[in-house]
Amino acid sequence: MRSHARVVVIGGGVVGCSVIYHLTRLGWKDVVLIERSELTSGSTWHAAGGFHTLNADTNMAALQGYTIRLYRELEEITGQSCSLHHVGGLTLAESPERLDFLKSARAMHRHMGLDTELVTPDEIRKLSPITNTDGVLGALYDPLDGHLDPSGTTHAYARAAQMQGAEIMLRNPVLETNPRTDGSWDVVTEQGNIVAEQLVNAAGLWAREVGAMAGVYLPLHPMEHQYFATDSIPEVFERDAELPHVMDPEGESYLRQEGKGLVIGFYEQDCVPWAVDGTRWDFGHELLTENLDRIGDSMEFAFKRYPVLAEAGIKTIINGPFTFAADGNPLVGPVPGLRNYWSACAVMAGFSQGGGVGLTLAEWMIEGEPSRDVFAMDVARFGDYCNPSYTRLKVTENYQRRFTVSYPNEELPAARPLDTTPAYGIWQQQNAVFGAAYGMEHVNYFAPQGEEPYEIPSFRRSNAFATVGEECRAVRERVGINEVHNFGKYEVCGPGAFQYLDTIMAGKIPALGRISLNPMLSPGGKIIGDFTVGRLQQDVFQVTASFAAQAYHMRWFEQHLPGSGVQLTNVSQQRIGFQIAGPKAQELLGRVTRADVSTTAMPFLSIREIDVGQCQAIVQRVSYTGDRGYEIYVPWHQQVALYQILTQAGTDLGLRPFGMRAMMSLRLDKSFGSWMREFKPDYTPLETGLDRFVDYRKDTDYIGKAAVLAEREKGATRQLCTFVVEARDADAVAWEPIWHQGDVVGYVTSGGYSHHSQKSIAFGFLPVNLVEEGREVEIEILGEMIAAKLYTEPLFDPKNDYLRG
Ligand SMILES: Cc1cc2nc3c(=O)[nH]c(=O)nc-3n(C[C@H](O)[C@H](O)[C@H](O)COP(=O)(O)OP(=O)(O)OC[C@H]3O[C@@H](n4cnc5c(N)ncnc54)[C@H](O)[C@@H]3O)c2cc1C
Repeated sequence: MRSHARVVVIGGGVVGCSVIYHLTRLGWKDVVLIERSELTSGSTWHAAGGFHTLNADTNMAALQGYTIRLYRELEEITGQSCSLHHVGGLTLAESPERLDFLKSARAMHRHMGLDTELVTPDEIRKLSPITNTDGVLGALYDPLDGHLDPSGTTHAYARAAQMQGAEIMLRNPVLETNPRTDGSWDVVTEQGNIVAEQLVNAAGLWAREVGAMAGVYLPLHPMEHQYFATDSIPEVFERDAELPHVMDPEGESYLRQEGKGLVIGFYEQDCVPWAVDGTRWDFGHELLTENLDRIGDSMEFAFKRYPVLAEAGIKTIINGPFTFAADGNPLVGPVPGLRNYWSACAVMAGFSQGGGVGLTLAEWMIEGEPSRDVFAMDVARFGDYCNPSYTRLKVTENYQRRFTVSYPNEELPAARPLDTTPAYGIWQQQNAVFGAAYGMEHVNYFAPQGEEPYEIPSFRRSNAFATVGEECRAVRERVGINEVHNFGKYEVCGPGAFQYLDTIMAGKIPALGRISLNPMLSPGGKIIGDFTVGRLQQDVFQVTASFAAQAYHMRWFEQHLPGSGVQLTNVSQQRIGFQIAGPKAQELLGRVTRADVSTTAMPFLSIREIDVGQCQAIVQRVSYTGDRGYEIYVPWHQQVALYQILTQAGTDLGLRPFGMRAMMSLRLDKSFGSWMREFKPDYTPLETGLDRFVDYRKDTDYIGKAAVLAEREKGATRQLCTFVVEARDADAVAWEPIWHQGDVVGYVTSGGYSHHSQKSIAFGFLPVNLVEEGREVEIEILGEMIAAKLYTEPLFDPKNDYLRG
């Protein structure tokens, strides 16, 4: 057995084989895959082999499209058949809400180049005569949907990789993975040891166990899943053409033709997490005991939807396990806390996603970053809060919701509350409606007393609308208070702190007592963070950004930390507090501190360590609402005291708590972008307007400098714009296409209703040649063309006179 490899991939399922195929295709030849048994010995061998492009995340959907288009190429390269059946697929809509959902999916697909279309019940029956369309309002048809042979496809990936130089070792379990001081790994296998410069965990059903060998927990869980194949059915085999797939969300089933019969599978509510305490090493090519009782209701429904099923005999029943992450998307990328260790796990739809996962990982390993934003499947989108119990509850919820309509304002209930701040009880008493991000509860809005604190999920304006409007007015007219716990906060200190920050941030590092808004860039000049950097002391900085990006940002910070001279601490959970914002905020702060907080002493974008009441606080003069405002950070245990101090002093000023819904409405008037909407690794500073915070002239060779300088030279081809939309009851959310003179020319990044301006606002990209004040476009919202007009200045306080005053 060889003693060294540039990359060792553990696991020969469809995902591991796709990884070695893509690594070798992008140029790395010294690649070894180690499989404990034969190829396809995990979930892969008993998959139903269906593939589709539908995914709530557009980049995931695009990668699924990539995967599906790859199969023909694999067949051509290797001569190995994947048994492709491109039969197309229908997703049925049985309710107006699901039709809205499918309309918005169709709209998204327009700018992704996917040719889906909405079809009527008549057209459904023409495409799939065995489908009873009673109660069905329409369907989304995707010509790319189809199925294949899981084993043939996995072997096609493997053969193509071998043809490009990869080596595959079979029947050789990996027993240990031990880190070496130089960052490489000792991979201990049954047949001997091999040193891997880089290690990939693609161990599927055993990914948790293989992760544990390196001392990490990968947040995924296997679930049991059942489908059955029928005997021959004349209505199926007596046709000229093969039947399309049909997804029936109401019946929680998917159906397709298999030879002369049908295959139907179910995502049932009464689902079962498998191998809760770990996957047995001796689990192999075996199936789980079938349990038709569990899918009894779904089967009964299926007999009505497809009457031919009722007459058909069942040929085989498959019950097999496969893995999911908490949100159903894969776990891909460098594993936080480890060097040269990569995850390619939790791929629940290996035949829709495997190609995209392999491509992404290979780009990341070889080129240093993926070619598109892949946060939706980044292993670092979860943090330490995501332990095995939390994961199991969330995975179960996700499995049950596989066919449920997802609404933009929806908050999922499983495993909540988990993390709360001391203010949680105070908010509960005020009838707060909570949301959660990264395990932490936050207030979305405060329901009127006497009303159930629940926001009804909807694609249209919800029951929260009026109350959120009142919260917005309280901020703009008087003063509002909300929590600042949902920022990620980091303390960076030590003699090397300035230089470190100057290298990882693209903007100016502020002078003592000042703060600066600072984009963080990838080497390719893409936005990987939008930070607020505050200088508390010469060598002490507070750095804040999105709470949900903590593991993502910490991974980057740690990767670039110098050997000495800088201490970096994630203080997100220790340093919490409130922001106060509005015309009376300065007066309120002045009432509770002896420090001079006048605009002269404490101007916009300044930071101070002062006492607020009896609390030791860090106060920043900045507010994401666009108002004159302050973020006040105190130690965790002083949060309740700070609340009391501020409310006692602020009641006669009209102080009112507000939640995230109001904050996201208020930012619209100021054209403030937000993380993962306007600012994400798909976009550059020049495209999004963040270039005004980039210091193109600073001497430091900061990460991404060469790329942004080159882009500035060349100019951007698209630009983020603000639109006022003539929406009636449904505002733009994200990904809606923007039309101009009959063509799709751009898309929305986010939007909503501005209660202050009393206008519906959307942000989105347009080609630069179309960007001009007053440009009239149309935005497709839930299938309707809505007129919109481009504004080149923010609607509220365009010159920042109020903000700075
Ligand atoms: C009933 C059922 C139906 C499904 N239907 C579909 C479908 O229609 N379409 C679709 O896209 N997906 C479907 N899936 C899901 C699909 O099977 C998975 O997404 C896919 O197989 C995951 O592949 P993988 O390579 O990540 O993992 P696995 O297939 O589990 O492969 C992991 C491999 O790693 C090896 N390994 C583990 N530990 C070690 C070790 N220590 N040393 C060496 N080797 C090791 C294992 O032997 C195994 O071969 C279905 C799954 C089930 C159970």
